[in-house]
Amino acid sequence: MINLLDFDPAGLTEYFASLGEKPFRAKQVLRWMHQFGVAEFSDMTDVAKSLRARLAEEAVVAAPEVIRDSLSDDGTRKWLLSVGEGNAVETVFIPEARRGTLCVSTQAGCALDCAFCSTGKQGFNRNLSVAEIIGQLWWANRALGAVRGGENDGERVISNVVLMGMGEPLANYDHTLRALRLMLDDNAYGLSRRRVTVSTSGIVPAMDRLREDCPVALAVSLHAPNDVLRDELVPINKKYPLSELMAACRRYLVKAPRDFITFEYVMLDGVNDRDRDARELLALVADVPCKFNLIPFNPFPGAPFGRSKPDRIRRFAEILQAAGLVVTTRKTRGEDVDAACGQLAGQVQDKSKRRLLSGSIPLVEVRP
Ligand code: SAH
Ligand code: SF4
Repeated sequence: MINLLDFDPAGLTEYFASLGEKPFRAKQVLRWMHQFGVAEFSDMTDVAKSLRARLAEEAVVAAPEVIRDSLSDDGTRKWLLSVGEGNAVETVFIPEARRGTLCVSTQAGCALDCAFCSTGKQGFNRNLSVAEIIGQLWWANRALGAVRGGENDGERVISNVVLMGMGEPLANYDHTLRALRLMLDDNAYGLSRRRVTVSTSGIVPAMDRLREDCPVALAVSLHAPNDVLRDELVPINKKYPLSELMAACRRYLVKAPRDFITFEYVMLDGVNDRDRDARELLALVADVPCKFNLIPFNPFPGAPFGRSKPDRIRRFAEILQAAGLVVTTRKTRGEDVDAACGQLAGQVQDKSKRRLLSGSIPLVEVRP
């Protein structure tokens, strides 16, 4: 069976051409699937009956199955999705006053093994397919009633998407790219490039590819002001050290939809949060137009770090701000359902044989 959620707009057009169908048929079906959230071909009423019958024979519209749906006291909602063979990934919706952000996963686990990341500690199983990545948006849109004709039709319920869930998006480049193309396509989700953010730990060659293929907003997980510390916290730094990473950021900005890079910086008590770390950071990023997003560390069982104290985070932010940088400190959301950054555990059968952690425990279960 062909899963139509695996196709980006160009791919679907090609598949329809192979059936002898015109490109506008692909557009119709894209709209049915992604805007109306329809999975049954029989419901696609303006598509010719013969084509519907053909599709029903050889294709499906299949998103990953939801195995748990949890709602935090602060409105953050988390879905645990099965991606087969005991693997599960998480998707998180974060409502705010004027926007709603969906945080999407791109891999079951992650091979990059950052020292402070719960996903990394689980090891790596496999890349998610396009259907599994876009299926998270497809599902959330339906669950939130944001599809056309749904209870929240017409509101921008999911106004922003961030690829900041489990996994390293740029290590699953081709599938991520196709999912991005669907997010931006007017017949699918129609999001602007500024409202879609890829977060990367700094895979330099893939940053260059993304700049050429589909330059969406870019967030870079920096976390340390020098190579010695970053080698320890973000091991991929040994392959792509800071000088190369900073150069890649500058190159990205030539095409970027925003004129800055967002640097993410997890605040680890006594490790990377001192005044001199802030000053060293300022020197490091002097040539890169950027904003900083400070993320208070979210602990998980067995984590060898503590969260920086609020005063320390404030002081760190002030030093960066005094030099003219825009700094935000991420409010921790959804902690009670383990939906905060770095707490996404999902469930991963580790192919790299690191170890198996099971999914996090929700406080409230929601029945759709
Ligand atoms: N792999 C990508 C995207 C997923 S992680 C990346 O690393 O950028 C999304 C963000 O959460 C990253 O900035 C990551 O460093 C941060 N993060 C990971 N574990 C965390 C933790 N325990 N507490 C706070 N932030 C964490
Ligand atoms: Fe992977 Fe990102 Fe976690 Fe590092 S922080 S292990 S790159 S998911």
